[in-house]
Amino acid sequence: MASSEDASSRLALSNIEEIGPATEKRLKEAGFRSIRDLLVRGPVDIAEATGMETGESVEICNKARLMLEELGIIDKSFVTATSLYSRRRERISTGSKSFDDLLGGGLETKAVTEVYGEFGTGKTQLCHTLCVIVQQNKLAGGLDARALYIDTENTFRPERIVSIAEGRGFDPRRSLENVIVAKAYNSAHQELIIEEAGPVIEDNNIRLIIVDSAVAHYRAEFLGRATLSERQQRLNKFMHILVRIAETYEVAVLVTNQIQASPDAYFGDTVRATGGNVVAHTSTYRIHLKRSGKNRIARMVDSPYHAEREILFTLTERGISDANEGR
Ligand code: ATP
Ligand code: MG
Repeated sequence: MASSEDASSRLALSNIEEIGPATEKRLKEAGFRSIRDLLVRGPVDIAEATGMETGESVEICNKARLMLEELGIIDKSFVTATSLYSRRRERISTGSKSFDDLLGGGLETKAVTEVYGEFGTGKTQLCHTLCVIVQQNKLAGGLDARALYIDTENTFRPERIVSIAEGRGFDPRRSLENVIVAKAYNSAHQELIIEEAGPVIEDNNIRLIIVDSAVAHYRAEFLGRATLSERQQRLNKFMHILVRIAETYEVAVLVTNQIQASPDAYFGDTVRATGGNVVAHTSTYRIHLKRSGKNRIARMVDSPYHAEREILFTLTERGISDANEGR
């Protein structure tokens, strides 16, 4: 982790020779603070922020990537399978042993995980539970870190943070203090929040980012087929920024996505599926949540290396729990 003073000075924008004081000022005004942000936002945004040619911004991005490789923050372009295999994967417990097992030990850092399912299947409960657990030490399933909660549906509830923390024997006041909430009022605002998240992540020791939900604003704002391609492009860009944030800031990202059982009155099946696919293709892992009586089923879908299997869990006052608990 490059969180020491030394590492953060090595991550300063001015370490790249093409970035003079005027360019640095313009980049900072556009929310770029460190070399990580250059890689997260990419050459097109850099060119837009500074007015430079894209040839030059591509060059800057390449340099940023090399520096992050040298610092060991991201993988080198050519690596052996051994070094990939031994790569450090940190995990955050979900609160349920079986759910953790399904994920191979918990929610993974440097990856984007999507949970999708119908209303009331526990997506938001999972988000809240992870926000409490990420704060704990490794023995208790956390990473001694804070969470950033991007709330697009107005369903973040501090009261739930309190009851989940209390139910698990953690200090509720400290638990509230360690969750930073950003309410996104529309899709453009949601994009702005994520574009400017770099400094917030660095300053607050954030290791978990929640986007609940990733798709809701796009669904509500882009009605009908005429706007479909713009919607897909915007959502695609948003998801790609999330992937790069996960990698360069070494955080775990969880996005939720609601899937309706009955055909959606506005979009019909095709449009809804397409919206979902953008998220599906950019996520590293996908979990489908379903009801099963009082319990819930979580199923690992299309994972590159997990077996496709499902587990049972339950929703309790203390958040996500194993199905045999809390009865
Ligand atoms: P949506 O798609 O509408 O956002 P969701 O998948 O996010 O739905 P959640 O809000 O996570 O759904 O789950 C709601 C369910 O969580 C409730 O139906 C209830 O079963 C359970 N739940 C919520 N609060 C508590 C609590 N304090 N104690 C026990 N169960 C709770
Ligand atoms: Mg929800």
